[in-house]
Amino acid sequence: MIVVENLTKRFGEKTVLNGISFRVNDGEIYGLLGPNGSGKSTTMKILVGILKPTSGSVSIAGIDPLRDPVKVKEVVGFVPETPVLYESLTPEEFFNFVGSVRGIAKEKLEERVNYLVKAFGIEEYLDQFIGTLSFGTQQKISLISALLHDPRVLILDEAMNGLDPKSARILRELLLEFKEEGKSIVFSTHVLPLAEMICDRIGLIYKGELIVEGTMEELKEKVHEENLEDIFLKLT
Ligand code: ATP
Ligand code: MG
Repeated sequence: MIVVENLTKRFGEKTVLNGISFRVNDGEIYGLLGPNGSGKSTTMKILVGILKPTSGSVSIAGIDPLRDPVKVKEVVGFVPETPVLYESLTPEEFFNFVGSVRGIAKEKLEERVNYLVKAFGIEEYLDQFIGTLSFGTQQKISLISALLHDPRVLILDEAMNGLDPKSARILRELLLEFKEEGKSIVFSTHVLPLAEMICDRIGLIYKGELIVEGTMEELKEKVHEENLEDIFLKLT
């Protein structure tokens, strides 16, 4: 469960988030949508404790990322908008590194790496330098590294970026499995049909404010438009 209350974030004079509140239940995929620069990534960085809000509060599976940034890492998997990887390590070395930082037991780590590497089909790249791999392959490495500790909460910032159709389907199916397992997932994307397909509820951020929220059915009723693209265009 994720509870976000009245988040504001200012950078100097500029207010980037202005009173954002929402909840994500266990077993729920919450879509965070909005135009470029509306505040999605800033919100997500606050959720995982990378950024401090100017005011407001966050609870991630009962943990406050501001007071306990180490503990929150144990329950959260974060995929940033742009992969943050060590270019001169191989994926195998990188997974071992992440595994040791997270304190994952060797056997458990091996099992998770095998499962995820196979799921995303990157076996052939395991011994190559990350810096030489394609963007999509790096994105898969970023995803796998966020999932190694089997986190209860996932914060995925445009995680489908760069994935080919087959890999995108694999990730979609994994997310639906995670949802069945009761994980809470926040998912940002600009691909509206994808959001319609997998999100249980959607929140639309515009200029740092959450201007509408609900299931697709609720959004259609509130905005009097039939599909997400028209809802998005009408409100932003
Ligand atoms: P996109 O769809 O392009 O990814 P976004 O909704 O994720 O956009 P954010 O990255 O959260 O948008 O940015 C929201 C606003 O905050 C932007 O105006 C951005 O310039 C500003 N911003 C983000 N980080 C900083 C920073 N470190 N200093 C100053 N302004 C920042
Ligand atoms: Mg962003």
